[in-house]
Amino acid sequence: MGRIHPAGTAALPQTADVVVIGGGIAGAADAFFLGRHGLGAVLLERAPQLASLTTSQAVACFRAQWDDPDYAELVLPGIAFYEGFAAETGLADWPIGLRQQGWLFLTAAADGPATMGRFVEATRGFGVTDSELLVGDEIRRRFPWVSEGMTAASYRARDGWVSPYEVVHGLARAAATAEVYLGTAATEILTDGSRVTGVRTAGGTIATERVVIAAGPFAKRLAATAGVDLPVTMVRHHRAMVAPQPEIPADGPMTLDTDTHAYWRPEGGGAFLGMGQDEPGTEPVDPVPTDWTFPAVVMDVASRAVPFWGTIADRLTSAEISLAAGQYTCTADGRPFIGGAGVDGLYLHTGDNGWGIESGPEAGRRLAAIVAGTAPDDERNPYRRNRASAAAGAARTVTY
Ligand SMILES: Cc1cc2nc3c(=O)[nH]c(=O)nc-3n(C[C@H](O)[C@H](O)[C@H](O)COP(=O)(O)OP(=O)(O)OC[C@H]3O[C@@H](n4cnc5c(N)ncnc54)[C@H](O)[C@@H]3O)c2cc1C
Repeated sequence: MGRIHPAGTAALPQTADVVVIGGGIAGAADAFFLGRHGLGAVLLERAPQLASLTTSQAVACFRAQWDDPDYAELVLPGIAFYEGFAAETGLADWPIGLRQQGWLFLTAAADGPATMGRFVEATRGFGVTDSELLVGDEIRRRFPWVSEGMTAASYRARDGWVSPYEVVHGLARAAATAEVYLGTAATEILTDGSRVTGVRTAGGTIATERVVIAAGPFAKRLAATAGVDLPVTMVRHHRAMVAPQPEIPADGPMTLDTDTHAYWRPEGGGAFLGMGQDEPGTEPVDPVPTDWTFPAVVMDVASRAVPFWGTIADRLTSAEISLAAGQYTCTADGRPFIGGAGVDGLYLHTGDNGWGIESGPEAGRRLAAIVAGTAPDDERNPYRRNRASAAAGAARTVTY
């Protein structure tokens, strides 16, 4: 079992098989899967607790509904991992808040039935046989709170969400050989000019030949200490939480309006709401500042597809809303970086693009195999650092 050392309670080791920097979903998954290869991971987290930055702000949903192989390949095994968490980790009694209440994509477009039909057909191509096309009144028969204006939907009942905090703590605990040091910031990745030699921290230097950068929005800064330029941008996204309201169906699905990118899902009788936002990239920040105009905006936009959000917004008091924000770490083509960084012994698990919870387990499994030398890190790895589509100007290929 992995050992978790609270801040300031244990001296750092002088050497490590692998140092993983960052204790969010990415670093925890990496440490867990490195253990399966018999590699001892020393995981450094600068905060006093795990899962405290982007991972703690996630709405934490997953969906098997993708129409691009590079997304489906990461998420489908991740869903299976969450469904089998106890067997995968050996943690018999470790609930991860798995709720499979479905994911509903909606559109009001006149050609929605055709577009959604193609989308559902594409998911079938990746073996997802239980995604459904809903057209017109069939949507409202299944989900009476959906607006008359919605023409088509894609739905899968076994999509859902997890509690990322429980997932990360479970992975760290179950990581066979991991030593987790909280309150320990990596300040520099050391190299001899061509390969990794260690990691510097305020508490001393750890000599190692292998380092994984899993530092979320701070990955670019850390990579720069080893002379690596990482092409990522950090973009703020908000999460509003609304207190329990009678209109919100506690058993409802994650619901996303594909025309406006406003989404919500039930949470504890209330709901989380979010929206794809068109903000400029910034430097990494911690904590991420919030904009209190967001809750009113997101409820207004969400009311287009789900009118009860207008009713709720009209009577809601500020005491019934809480607001958080995190930064997506974005790549040009929307795919993560999983693999070598371009310096021998330096590896990347970053570039989450807002889907790091659902891709986390499979990304960690692939990263660990590359570090252990049992998986290739060449053109057969679609998430390699030097792929052509990672260059600026590339486009995402997923519809939603
Ligand atoms: C509003 C919102 C909603 C989201 N919803 C979803 C969703 O529904 N589904 C989904 O899959 N994803 C979702 N995401 C995205 C998801 O949260 C991220 O993809 C994921 O949490 C990224 O995890 P990470 O481990 O890469 O980064 P982080 O969680 O940011 O972890 C990085 C860690 O590295 C640590 N660190 C940084 N620098 C150092 C250093 N020098 N030394 C030591 N430690 C360091 C940080 O303290 C941090 O704990 C959402 C994100 C936001 C903001």
